Amino acid sequence: MKTVAVLGGGIGGLAASFYLCKNPQVTKVIVLESSSRFGGWLWSLRRSDGAVFELGPRGIRPAGAVGTNTLNMVEGLGLEGDILPVSYNHVASKNRYLYVNGQLHKLPSGISGILKTVAPFSRPLLFSLLTEILVKKGREEDESIHSFVSRRLGKELADLAMDSVCRGVFAGDCKKLSVRSCFPSLYKAEQQRGSLTLGFLLGSGSAPVIVPGHLAQRAKREAWAQWSLKRGVETLPESIAEFLQQSGKVELHRDAAVRQIIPTTSGWKVCKNIMTRPE
Ligand SMILES: Cc1cc2nc3c(=O)[nH]c(=O)nc-3n(C[C@H](O)[C@H](O)[C@H](O)COP(=O)(O)OP(=O)(O)OC[C@H]3O[C@@H](n4cnc5c(N)ncnc54)[C@H](O)[C@@H]3O)c2cc1C
Repeated sequence: MKTVAVLGGGIGGLAASFYLCKNPQVTKVIVLESSSRFGGWLWSLRRSDGAVFELGPRGIRPAGAVGTNTLNMVEGLGLEGDILPVSYNHVASKNRYLYVNGQLHKLPSGISGILKTVAPFSRPLLFSLLTEILVKKGREEDESIHSFVSRRLGKELADLAMDSVCRGVFAGDCKKLSVRSCFPSLYKAEQQRGSLTLGFLLGSGSAPVIVPGHLAQRAKREAWAQWSLKRGVETLPESIAEFLQQSGKVELHRDAAVRQIIPTTSGWKVCKNIMTRPE
C-alpha cells in the first residue's frame, strides 16, 4: 500500500494521478501544483459569445498507443459528447503551408507529393528517405531534434520541416529539444532498425497494446487526424481534476511549489514552498 506524491498538476501529472487513483496498491495520491490552477499548458480562454481561444495546445492526435489511451480516458470521463474531431479529409488537415523566405508554400498532402521536388525543398522527399537508409547509426545517447534530423535526412529538412513541426507541436526550438523525449518513435527506429525509413516500413519493436474503447474505434473508423473539445482542451484537465476530487483518494493542492525532494530510507521527502523548511 502506497502514498504517491505527484509533482505538477499539468495534464501529465493529472493523467498520472487518474491512473494511480485506479491502482488498488495505491491508497493515497497527493498532487502538488505550484500555480493557482490545474492544467499547465492546457488553457482555454472562453468568451461570453461562445468563442474559445486556446492559449496552448489546440489539437490532440489520436494515433498510436498514447492517442488510444487518451481517448479511452476521455470516454471514461464521460466527455464523448464534447469531442470535436478533424478528419484527414478535412480542409484543415489538407491545407498546410510553410512560410519560407517571404513566400507561402503549400505542402503536398498525398503520396505523389513525395516523388517530386516541391518548393521550398530542393529535392524530392523520397530521395531523402532512400538515402537515409545508408546513414550510420548515431553514437550519442540523446541529441537535439535538429541534429538528429540533419544527420539522417539532411539539414534542409531539419531547418525547414522539423523547425516548424517543433514550433507547432511544442512551441519549442528543435535545436534545444531532445529527440529521445519528443520523438521516441524516431529514436527507436534508428536504434532498432538503423534507419527511420526501415523503422517506418518494418516497425520498430513492440509497442504497448492498448485495447481501444468506442471512441478510439470511432476515431480510427472516421480517420481523425486530431480532436479537441467543444469548450476547449482545458475541459480535459478540469474533468480529470473533478474525477480525482470525487474519488476520495486524492488530495489536490494548488499554490504548492515543490522546492526539494530528498531520498529517505523509507521513500522520499517532498519539500514544498519554503526551501529551508521541509514539510
Ligand atoms: C504553445 C504550445 C502549443 C502546443 N500545442 C500542442 C498541440 O496542439 N497538441 C499537443 O498534443 N501538444 C501541444 N503542445 C505540447 C503540450 O502542451 C505539452 O506536451 C503538455 O502540455 C505537457 O504537459 P505536462 O503536464 O507535462 O507539462 P505542463 O503543462 O508544463 O505542466 C507542468 C505543471 O507543473 C507545474 N510545476 C512546475 N514546477 C513545479 C514545482 N516545482 N512544483 C509544483 N508544480 C510545478 C506547472 O505549474 C504546471 O502546471 C503545445 C505546447 C505549447 C507550449
